[in-house]
Amino acid sequence: MVRFEILTIFPEFFQGFFEHGVVSRAQKKGLVGIGVTDLRQFTHDRHRTVDDRPFGGGEGMVLKPEPLAEALGSLGVKPVAERSPEELGRETVVLLTPQGRPFTQAMARELAGLERVVFLCGRYEGVDERVREIYCDREISIGDYVLSGGELASAVILDAAMRLVPGVLGNEASSEFESFGADDASIAADVDGVPRSQHGAGGLLDYPHYTRPAEFQGLAVPEVLMGGDHAAVRKWRREQQLAKTLKNRPELLEQAALTVADRKVLERLRRG
Ligand code: SAM
Repeated sequence: MVRFEILTIFPEFFQGFFEHGVVSRAQKKGLVGIGVTDLRQFTHDRHRTVDDRPFGGGEGMVLKPEPLAEALGSLGVKPVAERSPEELGRETVVLLTPQGRPFTQAMARELAGLERVVFLCGRYEGVDERVREIYCDREISIGDYVLSGGELASAVILDAAMRLVPGVLGNEASSEFESFGADDASIAADVDGVPRSQHGAGGLLDYPHYTRPAEFQGLAVPEVLMGGDHAAVRKWRREQQLAKTLKNRPELLEQAALTVADRKVLERLRRG
């Protein structure tokens, strides 16, 4: 079971998030554990001060190192230099920062397989650099923009990783067939003798989804989805995935698991 620990100066921020949907169900089923630690519990002055002015001058405030170090200590987190390779393989301490490596589905998969993921949520100008140096083995950014705190970023990462923990999603296959999902080779070719009506995403974006009614505001559901021909549906969906990826995220095609047929479709789509 993976346990997520969040260190923050705003513990209440997470209340609604934990009480709904998959996050709440996963905890109730005992498939993931989540803990939130209030950094102010680890201050020792009357004002419960967690921040201070930056050395060297400049804008804003910086989260002080002592409350963070004490909070990490209370969770039994050791400095990186004191963790064995096995410990580093089981547990990660993540600094959320726009300067980090961009978060991806591949990272979500990796985190879902660990025993413990500890998130340090920055605020103001960020966290005293020595905390990163001593305790953090990775820095993650959720995108090329600046948020006012790491809380949203940790919630995003926790959500994405948690739904990949086996048993969390009702239907295990759904994470293979969605955007950035597994490639065909790693998925069973058919289920109970019925050919699949979709390909593994293989790093592509998802295809469009439709439900009832068959017609909505003058737009009909594509004919192919109504006919019950699994092979035709599968072909159509794959073309839609390729078209959407080419249009919105062409760089993903470089890493995607593409077949000869896929490449032909792409050639046709590029020619317009
Ligand atoms: N001075 C920092 C910089 O320019 O890189 C920005 C600090 S930001 C206002 C405050 C905190 O929000 C950061 O310490 C980090 O924890 C969080 N944060 C902001 N943007 C983020 C992002 N794109 N990904 C992850 N965390 C982010």
